Amino acid sequence: MIPFKVFNKKIPFALVVLTMSMFGFAQNNRLERKIVKAVDKHLDGAIELIKTSVNINSGTMNFEGVRAVGTLFQNELDKLGFQTQLTDGTAYCRAGHLVATKKGTKGPKILMIGHLDTVFELDSPLQEYTMENDSIMKGPGVADMKGGDVIIILALQALKNAGVLEDMTIEVIMTGDEEKSGKPLELSKKDLIEAAKRSDIALGFENGDNNPKTIVVARRGSLDWELKVSGVRAHSSQIFLDDVGVGAIYETSRILNEFYKQLSKEKNLTFNPGFIIGGTALKPDADATGGHAYGKSNVVSQETIVRGDLRAVSLDQLKKAKETMKKIVSESYPKTEAQLVFSSGGYPPLSLSEGNTKLLNYFNTVSEDLGFGSVTAVNPRHAGAADISFTSEYVDMAIDGLGLTGGGGDHTIYESGNLNTVERQAKITAVLMYRLVNSKF
Ligand SMILES: [Zn+2]
Repeated sequence: MIPFKVFNKKIPFALVVLTMSMFGFAQNNRLERKIVKAVDKHLDGAIELIKTSVNINSGTMNFEGVRAVGTLFQNELDKLGFQTQLTDGTAYCRAGHLVATKKGTKGPKILMIGHLDTVFELDSPLQEYTMENDSIMKGPGVADMKGGDVIIILALQALKNAGVLEDMTIEVIMTGDEEKSGKPLELSKKDLIEAAKRSDIALGFENGDNNPKTIVVARRGSLDWELKVSGVRAHSSQIFLDDVGVGAIYETSRILNEFYKQLSKEKNLTFNPGFIIGGTALKPDADATGGHAYGKSNVVSQETIVRGDLRAVSLDQLKKAKETMKKIVSESYPKTEAQLVFSSGGYPPLSLSEGNTKLLNYFNTVSEDLGFGSVTAVNPRHAGAADISFTSEYVDMAIDGLGLTGGGGDHTIYESGNLNTVERQAKITAVLMYRLVNSKF
């Protein structure tokens, strides 16, 4: 709060204005001040909750651990008056998700997204947290994303404490298989997609690019493809003759080179052939990551297989890239045939929409008002796929990367995060939600 003596005549007007803007709108608004104070009040409890949850192993395939973390967070949401349940993931061979809902009467419906699982399975050498100094915590899932889950809970506790949660319609989903999605995706992502359909705004609490000064407004989607090419097997001395053609390997090199020439300059689009075998006879492994190829230098190649991925920033970009690739594949060299198959499903992109940009601006305004400085968008090339992408089609606005940040080493035994970002992210989130629901923008 600004002490009244600030308005003493001896202090220059410019300084008063500067001080006012530093403390910002939030300090002038009783309810927002209450929300901010309530975050402070619950902060120690939140840090404890991070410690407890990080020390419970919840590698995606450790279903018992995933459910234990789910139960831990479920208890907190129960206390806030949410209807909660841990759903059954048997149908897609995973632990299931934590789903919590709360109905109110005011404003847009908000979906908050977290995940319970981590990449650190029971055989990982990283099982418990350690403090690197007084603020940097190293541990499995500190940043990705138990810290983010706790920020969700802390923001909700603050809203409840300030007496403004009651009016809000909020759904919280913490999935149990973000790091290794259960199959089929239609089943494993069903709870998330259904929640998105009921919501207007989605907030994701991943750690983004680990910089608290940035959030994610666009994520690229990804899918896999497989290229199979066949040619006419013949003695090498006959290659290029009308009835022999060029063989499978030349045709494959033409296709890949054209992919590169026609699409590699496209902004935010990438495609990577990561596997290739070719020759006269192929035996690819069933798990699609290895295989055997037989061929001789004096025989025109008969078969090739190439596998790769494709990442795009919008559904439109994805569609256009697929069309271009298919066209290239159809323009075969003599006596060859090629087939390109894209995997079904895959992660959709979080398309950069007007709504997402607007929500980034709101987030930035709150951050500045609370004295945390400005926040900008993460370059989509630095944002991997995440659950929020599945909401892109259904909500008006979505942003991600609101979680615990300031560390690094995600998915490695060096994963860490800065605990000081918990307070900041929870305060911005809670005030943002209050303003969204009460039309304060
Ligand atoms: Zn994550």
